[in-house]
Amino acid sequence: MKVLIVASALTLVGSCATLSHTEKLQNIKDSIVFTDANIINNYANTITSAELNTHVYKFSADEFEGRRAGESGHHKAANYLKNYYIKEGVASPLGTDNYYQNVPESFFNDGIKSSPNVIAYIKGSEYPEEVLIISAHSDHEGYTEDAIYNGADDNGSGTAALLEMAQAFKMAEREGLAPKRSIVFLHLTGEEVNLTGSRYYIEHPILPLHNTIANLNIDMIGRVDDSHESNPNYIYLIGSDRLSTELHYISESANENFTKLELDYSLNSENDFNQYYSRSDHYNFAKNGIPVIFYFSGTHDDYHEPTDTAEKINYPLLQKRTKLIFTTAWYIANNKKRIEVDQDS
Ligand SMILES: [Zn+2]
Repeated sequence: MKVLIVASALTLVGSCATLSHTEKLQNIKDSIVFTDANIINNYANTITSAELNTHVYKFSADEFEGRRAGESGHHKAANYLKNYYIKEGVASPLGTDNYYQNVPESFFNDGIKSSPNVIAYIKGSEYPEEVLIISAHSDHEGYTEDAIYNGADDNGSGTAALLEMAQAFKMAEREGLAPKRSIVFLHLTGEEVNLTGSRYYIEHPILPLHNTIANLNIDMIGRVDDSHESNPNYIYLIGSDRLSTELHYISESANENFTKLELDYSLNSENDFNQYYSRSDHYNFAKNGIPVIFYFSGTHDDYHEPTDTAEKINYPLLQKRTKLIFTTAWYIANNKKRIEVDQDS
């Protein structure tokens, strides 16, 4: 009798108790399956090192004068982005040929003149109201009498990644594979001045925030930092597990399936000295409960110096890192259900 009672008690525990934390994690992991891996890979492969190179050189050229928000060089850079989207046939959610969300001078401090966020999108085919935002800031430090701050890594690298991903998603759409959810390509201004462009966007969202399901933000992904000199096949991910466990494992699975980078989470620690989680535009989305991943390859001697130039970018690595973001975005935009928020930090 005794043995039987124990056995049935065990059965009871096994069947009725809530799932353990480990079991929940395993269920989330098991639910993430890239069923169309070959198709996704074909589009990811249209993101090339050569095209990223062209965009970074162009975007960090002297003619854009260091892209200081509100200055003529940044306006020229914004115009370059707009013309690119028109050429590629990628629309704006603001309507025909209107790719600018103007951030007024009154919203900036320190006398910075008005300056645009640039926005383009591909409309979702099944859940168009649900929106994934992929972002990168377009502004930088401008110039002095002596030098232009070209900002090739900061943030020509992230900008180039957005342009290449937009082209790849557009190609898929043309070939009958529009994303199920809408994907927004958002080039934010005024990141270098207190994350102003993203603060403005959050206060004046073009597509509703309650249906903005995630933000993948890119700021400097073209270089190799000192601690990875001997193993450059890496990227830092920050924030991926803070609001959505599912987002974290989608990202891990995308990497496992397509890119096999070392995903370095050391800067994601809540005690990290640098507090990168709060230091680029994604933070304004995270503060509003929107799950984010911040993609970053670390600082270097040329950080915020005129020497952050295009020939120092590692283009094959930039390509690989962009593919990780692209395949992660593909899954988020095409999965059967919207990603779940289950954490609150
Ligand atoms: Zn930056």
